[in-house]
Amino acid sequence: MSRVIVCANQKGGVAKTTTTVNLGIGLAKKGMRVLVIDNDPQSSLTVALGFQNPSKLDYTMTTVLNHVIEEEDFDPRECILHHKEGVDLLPSNATLNSVETALLNVMGGETILSEYIEMIRNDYDFIIIDCSPNLGMLTFNALAAGDEAIIPVQAAYLPVKGLELLLKTISRIQRKVNKKLTIRGILITMVDYRTNYAKDITDMVQKTYGNDIYMFENVIPHSVRAAEASALGVSVYVHDPKGTVAAAYDALTWEVMA
Ligand code: ADP
Ligand code: MG
Repeated sequence: MSRVIVCANQKGGVAKTTTTVNLGIGLAKKGMRVLVIDNDPQSSLTVALGFQNPSKLDYTMTTVLNHVIEEEDFDPRECILHHKEGVDLLPSNATLNSVETALLNVMGGETILSEYIEMIRNDYDFIIIDCSPNLGMLTFNALAAGDEAIIPVQAAYLPVKGLELLLKTISRIQRKVNKKLTIRGILITMVDYRTNYAKDITDMVQKTYGNDIYMFENVIPHSVRAAEASALGVSVYVHDPKGTVAAAYDALTWEVMA
């Protein structure tokens, strides 16, 4: 049985994309068959996996979603790319913006991505969807298609406050569209151990949400190496294999698989 994981938070810069890359590749390194989906018109995931010119790609998320909207026959694998570290990628580019409008105007517009995923999910053990930093139709589609949501939260005060709206949205999706969706956990990212601040934030998230929502035991430390890796189109396991971020994402991978 494959698991569909949605990496969501309407706040940008909380490490959704970085987590999708390093959790996805972490799972692939353990022998899992993994597809990562770039559900963001800004294409950060596509670029972070080394496809530097998303606008040059002819086959992307836009292609598959349009096929499903138009109810056309198509090869569901024609848009899938392969990364040398073992994950498959369904890329995106800026044309995905136009699909967001189309999704609003089609009946059952929240479940278009879900229809696509049903076509390919048997090919994978894990499918991870990297969301854009908003709660629009594309993010709804991801949550409607998902089995589990992982919510990365940056260890800083303001991002933590923004969680309320996301949790409300998830609860609404659970009630109206996707009963099987659960929140797998909150992941604290970019922790700077040189400050006490990070510990305060973790305690605050734990106190506010810890009774209702699982908090991953593994938190992700801050390191410039993580940012460098995405610029190079590789994971932290390749760029800084002995580093703290690689160790943390590896431990998170085991935690997600458990
Ligand atoms: P999101 O997808 O939520 O917008 P990103 O994954 O793109 O967030 O991360 C935002 C920025 O922070 C990127 O420049 C990324 O390289 C950097 N970053 C991510 N994780 C870390 C980390 N653990 N340490 C330092 N920088 C990080
Ligand atoms: Mg992103």
